[in-house]
This record gives sequence, structure tokens and C-alpha cells, in this order.
Amino acid sequence: MSYEGAMLKTLEMPACLKVEQALLKALFRHEGVIEEFGAGEHIVEEIADEFNLSQAQRTAVLETIYRKENRLKKSQLWHRLLSRAADSLAKVGLITRPTETLKITGKREWMLTESGFDQSLQLLKIPSTQKEKFSTKSFEVQKIAKQIIEASRPEKSNPVDASKKIIKKLKESTTRARGFRQAVLQAYDFSCAFCGMKPHAPNDSLWEAEAAHIVPHSSLGRDDIWNGITLCRTHHWAFDVGWLSLHDDFVIKVSPKISSLGSLFGKMQDSDCIRIYSANDVQMRLPLNDNLYPHQSVLAWHREHVFFTGP
Ligand SMILES: [Zn+2]
Repeated sequence: MSYEGAMLKTLEMPACLKVEQALLKALFRHEGVIEEFGAGEHIVEEIADEFNLSQAQRTAVLETIYRKENRLKKSQLWHRLLSRAADSLAKVGLITRPTETLKITGKREWMLTESGFDQSLQLLKIPSTQKEKFSTKSFEVQKIAKQIIEASRPEKSNPVDASKKIIKKLKESTTRARGFRQAVLQAYDFSCAFCGMKPHAPNDSLWEAEAAHIVPHSSLGRDDIWNGITLCRTHHWAFDVGWLSLHDDFVIKVSPKISSLGSLFGKMQDSDCIRIYSANDVQMRLPLNDNLYPHQSVLAWHREHVFFTGP
């Protein structure tokens, strides 16, 4: 048995497979991404806690002699075990290496792939039908989100994509849909562009805000960032049914029909979810980068086809 193998055995360190599984679960908890980790860093301790590792197990040091250089190298056994787990998950394509992720996120991170995401759901006994609900990042989805965010903005844009085929169940189309959702949620920092609400589930992984298509998917709206807006569920609904729309200067418009309704409509305690935007000109909250703003052509389409101006 090797010196390292003997040490792993004496210290009763967790088995490789268990460490790999723990790492996949930790990646899921951290929205699909973990920064490249050195010994003693938070994530290294977090996974050690999960295994209830003793102080001796956490701090055991492996000494290797480099004969050629006559140098002694010391490395922490637990960190080494965890790095090796990351390495073998990358080898089988369940996560991407920091050098690869760097090209997409600009940061040295380990990131789940789509298969890694599936595997982590399986380990956590979450049905795969729930996958769409999570804003967990995966390499493939982030790649699409990056393309959507970095696409060059056209002067004129036809808001409707006549060539678009709506195939709901295809894997490619759901990955694309998640890429669009990530791009839009990130551009608006996960907050409603109207009211600014930014709630998420107690486990951090489910955001309440939704990435809405301004020209809806069902009307062949494109998955372009300038056809997207992040809205809380109430404002998403109000925007889709035509209570709310947007001027070209991004001021929120309220359907004139609102004046015919009782004052309790749209009320939540003392605040008013819809009428609040009719009293004063309120501009929607815009992304930091003006390339990501909604396009005038999609706003015009929404005013013409969705906004309710009738009696
Ligand atoms: Zn809202």
C-alpha cells in the first residue's frame, strides 16, 4: 500500500466516491459554482463538517520528498482528497475545471455541467421534473447566457421571429430557455424591474422573480436579452395580461381601465401593486449595461398587442 493509501486508511478518511458525491451536493447548494479552493478555505471546511471530520483528519499532512530537487513538499490530506474528487468529476464530465469555466465566467471556478446537475438532483432525491425551477448554473446554460448577454444589439429588430419553432420538450430548447432565464435574471440582478422585490426560497436556490419575454414565447418572441425583463410574479401577470406596459423612455404605463375598478383592486395591505404606477411617472429599474435594455421595437409591440387600452 502506498504511503498516502496507508495514511487514508489509518485516519479512516471518507472513501473517494463519497467525497465526489458530497462535492456534487455542495455544488448544488452553491448554485452550481464553487471557486477554486485552497486548503483551509470555507468550502473545504464546509464539506469536512458534513463528514464530521475530526481535527486530526482535517489537519493531517502528507509529506512527499522530491528526490530530484531534494525538496520536501507538504500537503493537507483532506484538501488533496477533495481536489482529487473534483478532478475525477471533471474527467467524467460532471463538472468543468476552473481553466475551462474561466472562459465563460472570467473566474476560476468549478461548475456543474448539465449531467452533473442531473446527478446532483438524483443524489438529493429531487425529481428531474423539478430541474427547471432551480436557478442553479450549469456550464452549458451559462455559455448560452453569455452569448445572449454579449450579442450585439441591432438598431432595428423585428420583435417576432417567424422562423422560431416552438418545441417545448426538446432538451436543446429547455437548455436554451434556461440560458435566456439566467441571462435576464442576472442582467436585472434577480429583482423585479417594476417594484424591485428580490425574494428567494429559504434554501437560496429558488428565486421568486421570473425572466419574462416582452413579446411572449407563444407570439414567437425571440430569446434576445432586449426582449427580456425580470418581474415578480404579480407584475409578470399584470404585464402579460395588459394592465401594465412601458413607454419608450421606460416609464411604466397603466391601462386606463384601472379607473373603472374599485380601490381594493391590486391592493396588498396599504400598498397598491398596479395603481401605484398611474399616479406618478415611474421608470422601470434598468440593467447597468444599456446594451441589455429592452429594445424599442419590442416595447412598441407590447403596447400595440398586449396593453389594454379599450373601454
Ligand atoms: Zn414586482
